[in-house]
Amino acid sequence: MPKTSYSMPVVGSTGKTGSWRTFDPVIDYDSCIKCRTCWLYCPEASIDIDEEGYPRIDLDYCKGCGICAQVCPKKCIEMVRGEVAREGGDA
Ligand code: SF4
Ligand code: SF4
Repeated sequence: MPKTSYSMPVVGSTGKTGSWRTFDPVIDYDSCIKCRTCWLYCPEASIDIDEEGYPRIDLDYCKGCGICAQVCPKKCIEMVRGEVAREGGDA
């Protein structure tokens, strides 16, 4: 059998990311179909599903990688420059 890499996402495995993340994922809930694809692929396990089935992103641990936006079948997650970048003054 060929060997392959394998890892399990763990919330906060690299510490809080809110202080250095540049881009924030923003969900358009009017377009979300509750498919959970973003939740499945988030490498930081920073997306939870609320009681109504919608994804909720924990920005304390999200690193802004944009994977959720890439995999969303409805393209209803937009990566926008966040608070850290705005404070830096170049946004
Ligand atoms: S941007 Fe990356 S870390 Fe943040 S919620 Fe999306 S997939 Fe997870
Ligand atoms: S992948 Fe997109 S459509 Fe699916 S639950 Fe996440 S935000 Fe909603």
